[in-house]
Amino acid sequence: MTMSSGKEASVNDQIPFSGLVVTATPIGNLGDLTPRAEAALRSADMIACEDTRHTGKLLARLGIKTKMIPYHDHSGTHVLKGIISALKEGRVIVLVSDAGTPLISDPGYELVAACRKEGIPVTSLPGASALITALSASGLPTDRFYFGGFLPQSGKKKREQLEAMMTIPGSHVFYESPKRLATTLEIMAGLYPDRDCVIARELTKLHEAFYHGNVASLLEEYRGTELKGELVLMLAPMALDQDYDDDQVIAALKDALASGHSHKDAVVHVTAISGRAKKDVYRIALTLKDTDSTTPSI
Ligand code: SAM
Repeated sequence: MTMSSGKEASVNDQIPFSGLVVTATPIGNLGDLTPRAEAALRSADMIACEDTRHTGKLLARLGIKTKMIPYHDHSGTHVLKGIISALKEGRVIVLVSDAGTPLISDPGYELVAACRKEGIPVTSLPGASALITALSASGLPTDRFYFGGFLPQSGKKKREQLEAMMTIPGSHVFYESPKRLATTLEIMAGLYPDRDCVIARELTKLHEAFYHGNVASLLEEYRGTELKGELVLMLAPMALDQDYDDDQVIAALKDALASGHSHKDAVVHVTAISGRAKKDVYRIALTLKDTDSTTPSI
């Protein structure tokens, strides 16, 4: 991939700039639109946006009449090519999503990647993003974190993904819909009931709230109630510093098998939560063979 020169990174505060301007918009509170974002929206040749009706409302409130074109990652190559050729002709195009920072669980990746490939300058005007807004006020460790975006909707895939990523070091952050929150917490409670969890709701809006607890307690609280509005679900880093002894490994293996894990998955799961080497957990799982007629298919 051709990368354009570092010079474009020194774009100064003045808008316009020739190229693509990835621009963050508020996630609820209009006051969070930055002066640079407003200037870019006002002076651009075009605004590429996820939904013209949505962005149209923002522009109307600001009295901005810049032409909008709908763009998302499935718009098709003709739309992408059209934007690229306008940029090559020297147009300034601002890219926005419905809310927050484009490309962060929002459209834009294909366009930015295409610009980079074509040597078209790209700059980014920073602003709101639910991910950073939630994490920075969560009280969870922020020195290292993993952003999982939206989890798969299907329960099976969601579980597999959560299990595969559960030992990634650092806090974990997900976007989640109120409708799927209870199922997600249920799966998480099966994997790590004691893990600290924070749910941020309606950030920057009138009903902003943060809910703290461990996964099991939050599940208990919100199993039957839909937490309305937009949500960010966050988990504390997995506590892997205290290694399980053999008895604890046996108990955890038995729990995992009882909750429906295959032997192979039980070993993966217990390795993840116990701090023990996989070969140790595997060896201990084999000893369970005497009390369980099933041979571990590991
Ligand atoms: N690009 C956006 C960003 O930078 O935050 C995220 C877009 S994604 C399609 C929308 C999801 O972000 C929502 O379903 C919710 O999980 C989260 N989100 C957006 N605004 C939020 C808010 N005000 N409060 C809590 N979560 C929010």
